[in-house]
Amino acid sequence: MREIYADVIIDISHEKLDKTFQYRVPNALAGEIDVGMCVQVPFGKGNTIRKGYVIGLGEECNFDPEKTKAIHALAEGDAGVEANQIKLARILQKKYACTMIQALKTVLPAKKTVKKLQHRTIVRTMSKEEIISLLGQADRKKQVAKVRLLTELMEQERIPYAWVTGKLNVSGATISSLEKCGAIQIQTTTEHRNPVKLQEDRDNRKTLSSQQQQIVDTILADFHQGFTKPYLIHGITGSGKTEVYMEVIREVVAAGKQVIVLIPEIALTYQTLLRFYRRFGDRVSVMNSTLSPGEKYDQCERAKQGEIDVIIGPRSALFTPFPNLGLIVIDEEHEGSYKSESTPKYHARDVAMELAKLHGAGVIMGSATPSLEAYYRAKSGEYLLFTLTERLSGGHLPTVHTVDLRQELREGNRSIFSRKLQDLLSDRLSKGEQSILFLNRRGYAGFISCRACGHVMKCPHCDVSLSEHRNGLLICHYCNYSEPKPKLCPECGSKYISGFRAGTQQIEDKLKEMFPGVRCLRMDGDTTKTKESYENILSAFANEEADVLIGTQMIVKGHDFPKVTLVGVLAADLSLSANDYRAGERTFQLLTQAVGRAGRSKLPGEAVIQTYQPEHYAVRHAKEQDCEGFYEEEILYREMLDYPPAAHMLAVQIFAINAQDGALLADTLAKVARDNRMRVIGPATATISKINDIFRYVFYVKSSDYDKLIETKDKIEEKRKMMQRTGEQVQFDFDPMVTM
Ligand code: ADP
Ligand code: ZN
Ligand code: ZN
Repeated sequence: MREIYADVIIDISHEKLDKTFQYRVPNALAGEIDVGMCVQVPFGKGNTIRKGYVIGLGEECNFDPEKTKAIHALAEGDAGVEANQIKLARILQKKYACTMIQALKTVLPAKKTVKKLQHRTIVRTMSKEEIISLLGQADRKKQVAKVRLLTELMEQERIPYAWVTGKLNVSGATISSLEKCGAIQIQTTTEHRNPVKLQEDRDNRKTLSSQQQQIVDTILADFHQGFTKPYLIHGITGSGKTEVYMEVIREVVAAGKQVIVLIPEIALTYQTLLRFYRRFGDRVSVMNSTLSPGEKYDQCERAKQGEIDVIIGPRSALFTPFPNLGLIVIDEEHEGSYKSESTPKYHARDVAMELAKLHGAGVIMGSATPSLEAYYRAKSGEYLLFTLTERLSGGHLPTVHTVDLRQELREGNRSIFSRKLQDLLSDRLSKGEQSILFLNRRGYAGFISCRACGHVMKCPHCDVSLSEHRNGLLICHYCNYSEPKPKLCPECGSKYISGFRAGTQQIEDKLKEMFPGVRCLRMDGDTTKTKESYENILSAFANEEADVLIGTQMIVKGHDFPKVTLVGVLAADLSLSANDYRAGERTFQLLTQAVGRAGRSKLPGEAVIQTYQPEHYAVRHAKEQDCEGFYEEEILYREMLDYPPAAHMLAVQIFAINAQDGALLADTLAKVARDNRMRVIGPATATISKINDIFRYVFYVKSSDYDKLIETKDKIEEKRKMMQRTGEQVQFDFDPMVTM
């Protein structure tokens, strides 16, 4: 009989997870041991029995078979929280076809010894009345930063120092001045407990609207009988989704279960967290990228020991090891940041579903502009869909105008501002209200369009736009189709056919030419190299230090600006024409979000969308703010061309030191997929064909059967191993969010 050997990890919370030990599976246990199981093994010289986890099985022995020790026994009973984490790793490994070690590293926090950080807390030492009087003084002197801090101090007695300097953007000097006048004290502690300790205020609960109450009732009824389906709450910003989450969470926590709340990193603001702390007190904790590995580890230990009920954080918060998980909330479900960019390239939504299944927990997703995936599944009955239609925070949806830029050109206006936008801008400037100018540059990669008729040069095979290359060719980055760049527009014969090259700097210059003395702030990749500069620009604008904020997609998220009553979208088509099958969806979401920036308070808002394609369905439906209409058309497109979510897609990316070798390898591997009778697109050079002298190629495999894609991936890897090459790297991405 053949021997079976198991790869075992002994101490799973150790930082050096890479080390596995091989053990023989004794005959008595043959057939009983599987990957992910917890076993007892003899370890070290003294052969002490330790707990370990099986992460692989095989027939090959890497050492001397005579000296290889045997597994002692299966671990008794419930191996506790860790067993579930191992199961989750196993699911990741299968679903994203990565190694077990990669999966374990994703789900387990490494134990690293770190120096205890010093934690400073600002403590209020004056009465509320005294603070109010200081607030009045500061307000009269227009000391805006001081006003922000004092306002917060009226509500809270203790605030973490780092939050005040970070999220509230208050300088150390301002804090010391308040300390000197006796309003606050700064306390320093070295012990790390909870990153935050705030006064809780359980009376803050709102009386829910009937729409909200209905959703809460339905979900809670399911909770008590056992969840069967995930929920999707579709509701514009301010429609009360967070209030719904909190009501459900309250009851889940009261039943002794724990909750994970996922929020995109960018929306993880002081305001959001404060709401949760006020409601649930210090049994809430945060997980974010600014925590050190040591702090993350501490958080996980606290979670295991049952000291936390609710954790809030970006996608990695999913891996908090709760003993009795009851609910997962995914806010802003459509956000691209829920997809991991490193192997395993998992999507938080999919992992949340698996995790929920493991624990019998529920999943609630919420968004103002749900992803097509979520919407599609809701329509097919896989998710239960709720809609919230009223804005509870006051304010109304803005009036939206679309301007046809072709018409502007025909009527002699060659400026980047349409006449409508110029009129409205000048009106806002005279009234002292604020405006936002949004340059939609997402996914922009040298596409070519006609300024006279709006025609975009597209690939005849893939229906994505062609990209211009220096050699004068237009190339498709899905299938490598190419054609020479035309001199005249093939639709209308105009000579105005070219790429779009306006940046935010150019927009600022033109704006100043048109409105001398206008105060501008600019926000794009160049002005926001650090997270701090990003926050600084936003808070300067919130403090009304500028009339106009010009920026790329960064400005459409987060922060509320009550004084903004006008949003101008300079060229809606830029992301529409991106060489990517998600271009329509992304454009619709960006436009809807951008437009929604205007009119958040009592002042009515307006928005202008400038476009060459006013009739395009993404633009049309964004103008009407009609999600359903958009989804219906977008789903048809995906179904017709077999793009996700109508089918599954695997991106295979090849990185090579030598261009020819890379191209050859891409061809060889694509042939493996074709031989497996799969639909393959490409290979082609990636949109960015070279980074740091590493050449990049990509091909796509499509199938409605996810398992077939995994099988294909395995065959490709097998082929790779046989070729024994070292100059290239291959990466896999299942259902990619962006194409390369
Ligand atoms: P969303 O998460 O959809 O953006 P929120 O839950 O944040 O919406 O609610 C938006 C605003 O409306 C918040 O200031 C919230 O306190 C308030 N709000 C929510 N529900 C109610 C309610 N039932 N009654 C009064 N105010 C509410
Ligand atoms: Zn034309
Ligand atoms: Zn093509």
